[in-house]
Amino acid sequence: MLELLDWIYKKKCYFCRSSKEAVKMCSKCYEQMDYLPVKVNRIVEGKKVYCAGIYNKNIQKLIRGLKYHNQKDLAFYLAKFMAEYFEKITDSKDFDVVPVPIFPKREMKRKYNHMNLTGAEFCRLTSTTLNKNLIKRIKDTKPQYKLKRPERIENLSNAFEVNKENYSGKTILIIDDICTTGSTFEEMIKELQKNGITDIICLSATTPFGD
Ligand SMILES: [Zn+2]
Repeated sequence: MLELLDWIYKKKCYFCRSSKEAVKMCSKCYEQMDYLPVKVNRIVEGKKVYCAGIYNKNIQKLIRGLKYHNQKDLAFYLAKFMAEYFEKITDSKDFDVVPVPIFPKREMKRKYNHMNLTGAEFCRLTSTTLNKNLIKRIKDTKPQYKLKRPERIENLSNAFEVNKENYSGKTILIIDDICTTGSTFEEMIKELQKNGITDIICLSATTPFGD
């Protein structure tokens, strides 16, 4: 029965629409997402920020589809892309993975936090632990891409709150989709540090500022 349903509602590749593979992202389109070199992309508040991929066509389409067009299945492919990069940084599984939170009202409207979905898949692939409750968003910030750097910092100031009861003592790995100026990581790191949590690294799927 399931096979029949699969046949009727045959999944087509969301990217090329032409692959014979019955998957959301075919292997050819997946391979078109290019990696950046495995190295620290920048240091933010003294913490290492890694960025996995070049900001090219397919990764942009993947992130937009996942974020704005209800393409939840795409979380797996974003997670896989990030996990393959992450496993080149470290063999350790001793991480609490913290997806960048969305303001609750906004998350309700959007129905889900795409980075929570990505985080769940990422943790499954890397045998790390998902920690969605350590830090929450307490301010309804404007979308960062609309703002200039000083406004971004103002927009995000005091936007996050840590609940230390949910800290396991493991290294924190903050994950996000796109790292532009790094202000989101910056604010989250500051808030964690205020709470005495200092063992932190960051990973974004992509950045417009790679090399
Ligand atoms: Zn394809």
